[in-house]
Amino acid sequence: MQLDQISVRQIKGVSAPKEQELHAFGVRSVADLLDYFPFRYEDYRIRELADAKDGEKVTVLGIVRGVPVLQRYGRSKSRLTCKVEVGQWLVTAVWFNRHFLQDQLTVNREVMLTGKWEQRRLQMTVSESEFPDSARSAKSGTLQPVYSVSGSMTQAWIRKTIRQALAQYGTMIEELLPHELVERHDLMARRDAVQRIHLPDDASEGQAARRRLVYEELFLFQLKLQAYRALNRKRTDGIAHRIESETIREFAATLPFELTDGQKKVVNEILTDMRRPSCMNRLLQGDVGSGKTVVAAIALYGAVKAGHQGALMVPTEILAEQHMRSLQRLFADMGVEVALLTGSLTERKRRDALAGLQMGIIDIAVGTHALIQEDVFFRSLGLVVVDEQHRFGVNQRSILRRKGMNPDVLTMTATPIPRTMAITAFGDMDVSTIRERPHGRKPIKTYWVKHGMMERVLAFIRKEVTKGRQAYIICPLIEESEKLDVQNAIDLYVQTQQSFPDLRIGLLHGRMTAAEKDGAMGAFGSNETQVLVATTVVEVGVDVPNATLIIIMDAERFGLSQLHQLRGRVGRGEHQSHCILVADPKSETGRERMKVMTETDDGFEVSRRDLEIRGPGDFFGTKQSGLPEFRLADMVADYELLETAREDAAELTEREDFWSDASYARVRGVLQKDSYFQGEQLD
Ligand code: ADP
Ligand code: MG
Repeated sequence: MQLDQISVRQIKGVSAPKEQELHAFGVRSVADLLDYFPFRYEDYRIRELADAKDGEKVTVLGIVRGVPVLQRYGRSKSRLTCKVEVGQWLVTAVWFNRHFLQDQLTVNREVMLTGKWEQRRLQMTVSESEFPDSARSAKSGTLQPVYSVSGSMTQAWIRKTIRQALAQYGTMIEELLPHELVERHDLMARRDAVQRIHLPDDASEGQAARRRLVYEELFLFQLKLQAYRALNRKRTDGIAHRIESETIREFAATLPFELTDGQKKVVNEILTDMRRPSCMNRLLQGDVGSGKTVVAAIALYGAVKAGHQGALMVPTEILAEQHMRSLQRLFADMGVEVALLTGSLTERKRRDALAGLQMGIIDIAVGTHALIQEDVFFRSLGLVVVDEQHRFGVNQRSILRRKGMNPDVLTMTATPIPRTMAITAFGDMDVSTIRERPHGRKPIKTYWVKHGMMERVLAFIRKEVTKGRQAYIICPLIEESEKLDVQNAIDLYVQTQQSFPDLRIGLLHGRMTAAEKDGAMGAFGSNETQVLVATTVVEVGVDVPNATLIIIMDAERFGLSQLHQLRGRVGRGEHQSHCILVADPKSETGRERMKVMTETDDGFEVSRRDLEIRGPGDFFGTKQSGLPEFRLADMVADYELLETAREDAAELTEREDFWSDASYARVRGVLQKDSYFQGEQLD
């Protein structure tokens, strides 16, 4: 019998109603309960009062030296005080609502006190106390686990129940990790680790137990990702693109610039994947302005020249139109047909585009998410390039497969991700990274000013425009009230016109029609308008190299990665660029963000600091992050274990014997429980 097949009802003291409560926590079997780890410990170890800081919570051993004095307030409230000798001090111990202790506090009796020590008043506000001579004494001298509980399930009850479960079933806990890994990393055996994490005898044991279980958690998580990767690589039902290196070289020669070494390297990685008969699942990351778009264009070109079609999927229509234009420019003399497919096409244009894709007249479709769904059929879709904001999940993959397509997939992130995030959220992918920006780019100078300095900011705009450059002014967009924001943008637009009556000012916001947006972007792109007042619709991908100044209003309302994205709209040409953050942040984190922005313009550093300030949970925003919730592991603090676990998992899943050898049956069993590895993903 295995522990995951034994119901919690078998544990002494678990009644039917208690069983129901445990179910609400996802705890059904004994195994579940034993894996219900504490999230911290309360320290009841006895200390010397002399070592305690003023205001600190401590547990001490003392001797009752006075007669307790009880004051009652109403029916249930009371205050009990008593002089207790602790070390060299005569301390006034204070209990609230513990009137029943009055009779037990007899002179010369030993007592353990846990509470807040106020050195100046020689007073201790007692939260818990015990008498060592009493049979009920349990906590003192120990570390007590603290579990997440709610409802009528109390801390004391779950502690008792887990202790009971350990007593009944502790010896049945089996090792789960492959023996070689336990040895290699000198890990505590699972049986001991589970025991110790619930009942640590001392802190260092608790640490070793935690380390073992954190490793296990990270390893099993990485195992799924790496197994998925390994199996994907083995598949042969993808498209083996036949791409000649010469074809790519010829195309690269038509570009107005030479590719950076970083770009060349990732192009090679991508082409190597595309030539394989398996399905590419690769992440391309690089800082804003590092030139990812042209890399994507080369890959798309390769797919087309190999006789297939490509799709470029982006988050917004503005971006779709911009990419459409730049691809058309790049492919102008190449005989590559590019078409736009967005929600706002006229019915006729849409019909034409769909027919063109189905017949193979159109080589590359650029559009929003709808591109790969519903009634869209390709003659032979070979490569899908997607923007980060739509992570291409298992669902989309199966949509394509149902249509009989197994295209290669390249995902691009506009935000560089710290490695710890990348291998967690995108761990099932291969990663290509562009580190440098194109030659000759100067770092963007960033300043943080208060609202009172707008006069000087306006003078700055004037200076840049006089030099022939252009500027963005960004105002925030709050989800809840797009209407207000649009008004805000319009107000700012009017003010800007008044400040610069001789200049042409553009306006861009989310409520404009696709044609209006397109017009506004077009006018700014060709320098017909010198200043563009915009909401965050310009955030990703907009590319106007002549723009050298970006003013971000109320900058405290943006997150760090968004600020960095916005800043990336400038610094895209050879001129020195500037970013001005206008903000009066009230919060500490707001000020912290402004500081980070002024200190670095390296996207990897920005996201590292972002992760530090926000913590992993918030990093990608909620739900769609694809980040798992670890029980024990902390992606940031346990970073080294995460790396190790990933390497181990990758090495193991690449080995043939992992998939057959009996000694890995237990870990393989973990994979089989995962839906990823059931049904159509594994066929
Ligand atoms: P990203 O998508 O990574 O933010 P883009 O692909 O939009 O960056 O490139 C930013 C700008 O740099 C574009 O104007 C692009 O034409 C230009 N660019 C790309 N690669 C190079 C290069 N190797 N040398 C010079 N300019 C480049
Ligand atoms: Mg391929």
